[in-house]
Formats: sequence, C-alpha cells, structure tokens
Amino acid sequence: MNDCEPSRGSSTTPLTKPLSVEEASAQLLAAARTIEGSELLPTSDCLGRVLAEPVISGTDLPGWDNSAMDGYALRAADLQASDGWLPVSQRIAAGQCGTPLTPGTAARIFTGAPVPEGADTVVVQEVCEQDGDRVRVNAEITAGANIRHRGEELEAGSQVLEAGTRLAPQHLGLAAGVGAEQLRVYRRLRVAVLASGDELVMPGEPLGPGQIYNSNRFLFRALLQALGCEVIDLGIVKDEREATVAALSTAAEQADLVLASGGVSVGEEDHVRPAVEQLGSLDLWRVAMKPGKPVAFGHIGQTPFIGSPGNPVSLFVTFCLFARPFIERMQGVQDAKLPIPLWLPSGFALSKPVKRRDYQRARLEIDAAGQTRVQRFHSSSSAALSSLTWANGLVVIPPDATIAIADPVAFLPFAELVPGHQSL
Ligand code: AMP
Ligand code: MG
Repeated sequence: MNDCEPSRGSSTTPLTKPLSVEEASAQLLAAARTIEGSELLPTSDCLGRVLAEPVISGTDLPGWDNSAMDGYALRAADLQASDGWLPVSQRIAAGQCGTPLTPGTAARIFTGAPVPEGADTVVVQEVCEQDGDRVRVNAEITAGANIRHRGEELEAGSQVLEAGTRLAPQHLGLAAGVGAEQLRVYRRLRVAVLASGDELVMPGEPLGPGQIYNSNRFLFRALLQALGCEVIDLGIVKDEREATVAALSTAAEQADLVLASGGVSVGEEDHVRPAVEQLGSLDLWRVAMKPGKPVAFGHIGQTPFIGSPGNPVSLFVTFCLFARPFIERMQGVQDAKLPIPLWLPSGFALSKPVKRRDYQRARLEIDAAGQTRVQRFHSSSSAALSSLTWANGLVVIPPDATIAIADPVAFLPFAELVPGHQSL
C-alpha cells in the first residue's frame, strides 16, 4: 500500500505495468550516493547546510539549577514554618551567582539566574508582596516549583544533532546553545542544469514566431538554490544531437549531478535521451502519474542524470517528488523521502475518474461553515505555471475513483514539497 491512495485490496499485476510513484522513488533513492567532502564553517554560516558530523554538547543544559521565573527563591519548609513573611537576604539577577541561602530567608531572583544553594522552590513575583526587605507569599505554593534543573534538557557529552540534519534556524540556535562555534557540514552539491528546446528564448530577448520564454531555467535555479546547491547553468541547448552531447559531457565533468528539462520523450526532436545513452546509460521510466511521465534517470560517466519533461508544471512536480529527495540524499540528508500527505475533506467533486494518479494543483480554503477544504485549480494543464502560483499544494487524485464533496483527499502542502517554502 502507498500513502496517497486508499487501500483497494489485491489486484493482479500486468507484465507491462508502469512503476508506481513509490517504486520509482525507491529505485531512484537506492541509486543516490552521498557526496564526499565537507567543510568546517562558523555556525552562523550554516543555515540550510547538512551536518556531516553529529553535534555533541560541551555542557549540561541548563548548566546549573536556575529560576524559570522572576520571583523569590526559598526553602518551602521555611515558608511553612513562618508567619508568612520571610526576610529578603540577597538579590540574584541573570549572570550573577549569589551565595548559599541563609536559612529562614528568601532571595529575590530573576529568570535564568542560578538558584542559590539551599533553596528548593521559586515563588513567582505575582503572588508575592515585598515590603522593604521582607516578602510575604499570598498563595499556596508547590514545593520544587519553577526551577529548571541542571542537565534537565541534556547532559554534557550527549548527541544534540545527528549527522545528516538539514540545519534550520532552530538547529543553529541549539548548536550555539551547547557552545558549538563551528560545524562540519557537507560541501555544497554542484548541480548542472540545461534546458533543451529550439523554441526557447530568454526573457529580455524578442519573442519570435513559435518561441516561448525559458521558464524552466528559472524554476530549476530557484529550486536548487533553495536546496543550498551550487548551480552550474549551461543555458539553452538546441535540439541537435551534437550540441546536446557536448553540453551534457561538459555538465557531467563539472557537476555532481546533471538535470535537464525537455527532450527526454521518444520524439525525433528529443535529443537528450539518445545523447545520454551515447555518453553513458539511461532508463526511461514510465511512472503511473500525471503530470510527469516519463522520468529519465541515468549516468553520464559516473555522474547521475535526471531528465524531466519540458512542460514547466511536469518539471516542478517531478522535481519535488523525485529530484528533490535524490538531491537531498546526495547532500547527506538522512531522512530524504517522499512527503507524507495530509488527508483533508475535498471541496470539489470528481465524477469522471482519472486513469493515472494525478497530482493536481490545489490549495486549502475555508468554506462558509468554517471547515478547511481542499480546492483544486480549474485546469489540469501541465503547461499552466499560473496553476502553481494559485496553489499552495498538490491534491493527489487516485486512479479510477470518483470523489464527492467532503470525501477525504490526500493533500501535499508546498511547505513539504518545495524547498523555498522551508526555513533554509
Ligand atoms: P519536451 O519535453 O521537450 O517535449 O517539451 C514539452 C513542452 O514543454 C513543450 O511545449 C515545450 O515547448 C515546453 N518546454 C520545454 N522546455 C521548456 C522551458 N525551458 N521552459 C518552458 N517551457 C518549456
Ligand atoms: Mg523539446
């Protein structure tokens, strides 16, 4: 069973059955090798990078018992034995150390300050009344409250972050919190991209008859940059065998991975596929999905190659589902995998079933009753980039199924799919 389609019992498998998305993804990931090479960088320069070594704490966290609140540190038994008032014997702010607590007294204390030896409880200032140098507690107290104990979060010598972690702001904060000034991260992955097609021109150039702007170059670059890759941009490659072979071999010499858009179908104007076959090996996978069939995977020499269909939406979807986890695995990310869908009520009905699993552009909306619903874009054309800017995710339409309003559907938020949506 897979994550995106409801279970529908067993069925016989025809010999020519195309690969499921899960099978294609698993085959691709099995072929991904993490790059060699790492660098030691200042912690503050590591956002979006992938840890090559675990981070080990150099300290207990917290380093000593400290106050969780502004208030008074005291011994609970002293308060019970008193008439409600205790003398205030010292004042301890964050960054100061104080002295052992004189029995029968309280210490004025502030959040983060070390709890003085002998105190076992901090009482929050809101329930206290200070009069000169004495304090009265006007509420029942809980012995032991409001103290963060030494080593409560983690102990010195323990592993704080695993190798293979993509470093988001919270990881950098934690690494700094245990004293890591520098981190060892994998070097940046070098990815060469090329866009094949005689019809392509760059924005800024005049658009002749039959020509279109090269959207895919911008999609590729941005997706890769958001994943922290170094992009080697080989520009537009003409629909000619020789030019394609030359561009691909240059790409493979310079890069860890080569990505191409267009030219991977089996038409006579599709030169990328035969060029890769000439330079190495290529598998053309029929994947049971729309958009995106076929996905091409191969090697140019030792360098892996992924070819996407030229339609921008197909490129975007296949990049997010296949290329992204592959790249992450090469970058050293431990948990690179297909994203997990959210099952949410549909805001649309589908009476005409689709034949292949269809990743349609969708977004979450709130209906008149205040319910979250998955809405889909009015067109499923894989050329329409505007569907992607309208959407904030993809809805996965299973084959051979009808959908009624409010039926649960699998929604993949862009936050899970698209690197730029994450805190890299
Ligand atoms: P292909 O995969 O080469 O058969 O291209 C499929 C469709 O995608 C055609 O309509 C192409 O014009 C279009 N296409 C190919 N490359 C690009 C690109 N770089 N930017 C925008 N559209 C493209
Ligand atoms: Mg083409």
